[in-house]
This record gives sequence, structure tokens and C-alpha cells, in this order.
Amino acid sequence: NPTIGVLALQGDVREHLAALRSLGADPISVRRPGELAACDGLVIPGGESTTMIKLATIFDLLEPLREAVRGGLPAFGTCAGMIMLADRIEDGATGQETIGGLHITVRRNAFGRQVDSFEEDLHIEGLVDPVRAVFIRAPWVEAVDDDVEVLAQVEAGPAAGRIVAVRQGPLMATSFHPEVGSDDRVHGMFVDLVRSA
Ligand code: GLN
Repeated sequence: NPTIGVLALQGDVREHLAALRSLGADPISVRRPGELAACDGLVIPGGESTTMIKLATIFDLLEPLREAVRGGLPAFGTCAGMIMLADRIEDGATGQETIGGLHITVRRNAFGRQVDSFEEDLHIEGLVDPVRAVFIRAPWVEAVDDDVEVLAQVEAGPAAGRIVAVRQGPLMATSFHPEVGSDDRVHGMFVDLVRSA
């Protein structure tokens, strides 16, 4: 079974561990470089990306995370985790660092105050039936480079067409929270990615 880490600095770690376990992976919490080194794949959960990046720096994990992703470690970022994996952030705030690796530009808190949290049935490339996607103060993907595959776009409302799930080689990211609820299919896509890496 692949060992899949969940970055456990901040955010909703437990739900990801449970989803990975139910899919037959061996999940571990990652707070130290040694734990990261033991991983065949890494989930970066939702939470608050500015806090998460600060904690990663304090825990001496930022450079090891960058090296691991650069070295081809499969990684899956959800919501704040998507921001952490993005090469570029576009939200007016200057100087927010990321792990990077994913050739996308994200906009933080993109859906605005009126609809800052909502749910939608979302069709995801590679899955037959739609996923009930939960968005919580979510980012969207503003722009992607040519090597990034778009897996899902918002289907209704004022944000229709906005990109909310992407893949680039062993990297995956979703704006929404696949760990909420009991549908493990999006985690399943990542476990498959880790297994085939
Ligand atoms: N708004 C948060 C951020 O910018 C992300 C929210 C989430 O992960 N649910 O980091």
C-alpha cells in the first residue's frame, strides 16, 4: 500500500486521513521533514494558506516540500492546498509565498462574499457521475499553462466556467473540499495517481 501523507500543520487533516485509509492507502500526518521523506504521495488540506505557509516555514518544511514536489512527489492540494501548490497567486496581496510546482494562477477567496461558501454538483474529468462539491471561501484557477489539464469547471451561476480542478503530471488540485461527506472518488483519483507514479 502506498504511504500517503497529509500535511498536518493546520486545517482539516483528519477527514483526509480517513478518506485515504478507506481507499486502502497507509495515511500518515506530516509535520516534520522525516515524515515527508516517508511519503509516496502528499495531500495538502484546506485551511488558511497564509497561516499554513508561515507554519511550514517555522517547522522547516517549506524547502523540503518544494524539493519533494520538484522531485516528482505526487501531491494533491484542496482549497488552501491548491493555493499552496500554485506557482502564482493573484489576489492583490503581495508576497504570499507558496510551495509551487503547479503551473497555474489562483485567485484566493475568488467567489466573493455573497457566495463565499456553497455546494454544487460538479462533473469531473475521469468520473462518471457528478461529485457534490463543497466550496468554502474557495480559490478558483485564473489561468493555466499548456501542460495543465482542466478536470472541472463551475457549471452554473455567475462563476460558471471557472476552473476548479486541475491536474499536471503527478500534481492535482481542487478548489473544493472532497474530504467533506462520504464520497471518496476524488481521493481515489489521487491514490491511483500515486500508485501509477
Ligand atoms: N480562503 C482560504 C485561503 O485563502 C482557503 C479556504 C479553505 O481552504 N477552505 O487560504
